[in-house]
Amino acid sequence: MRQPLIAGNWKMNLGLKEAVSLISELKKVKPNKAEMLICPPFVDLPAASEMVQGTHIQLGAQNMYPEEKGAFTGEISPAMLKELHCRYVICGHSERRHIMGESDEFIHRKVVSALAHGLTPILCTGETAEQRNEGRTEEIIREELETALFNIPSEQAETIVIAYEPIWAIGTGVAATAVDAQAVAHFIRGELTRLYGETTAEKIRILYGGSVKAANIEDFMAQKDIDGGLIGGASLKAAEFKEIYEKV
Ligand code: PGA
Repeated sequence: MRQPLIAGNWKMNLGLKEAVSLISELKKVKPNKAEMLICPPFVDLPAASEMVQGTHIQLGAQNMYPEEKGAFTGEISPAMLKELHCRYVICGHSERRHIMGESDEFIHRKVVSALAHGLTPILCTGETAEQRNEGRTEEIIREELETALFNIPSEQAETIVIAYEPIWAIGTGVAATAVDAQAVAHFIRGELTRLYGETTAEKIRILYGGSVKAANIEDFMAQKDIDGGLIGGASLKAAEFKEIYEKV
């Protein structure tokens, strides 16, 4: 019932020329039952938008500022993303939480604003290695979910995508085991059930992210509560991203 989603988070990689060349390759990939999404840097979005029109490739942004317009130097609004036919926006990636100091409350504002503009938020959650060692994974994720989803009605919540990205697994080459990732994804679905009831919770897609590659995607996809991947490093190379997509 939940359509698998294979999302590439390019982060601060690939300028315009490289973006065009990667998208040209991805356009050759045969569509399957999964949704393919790319989230390039802002400066690549206009070209990417033109290139993916009418293809199976969906476009998303890595971030946005939760205001209409105005004096927010350096920021990009949800309406600007909509104009470029972005369908998704990543909210609360751990790099933004930890490097840029974004709080749960600020991420909540982004989720609300994205939904109000018809963008689908990909809400990232996940614990640090220290928090995991202290046995606090569930507590951290519960807090991130409760704050980000505060007051969001179920009709909107059911469209959101949640990404579980253990911070210790991001960019390290050391992915969570599929069993551990499933345990947390199951916990997330349980929290969503508590907040919204089972019918809504069963509609919400949960992705795993953190060192996903062609060699491990099938293990994650075999898990009951994992509906796709949020993929950093391995989304930057056409052949690997294609292989991941084709294995779903
Ligand atoms: P990674 O990044 O696949 O390079 O570990 C995932 C992410 O940060 O979304």
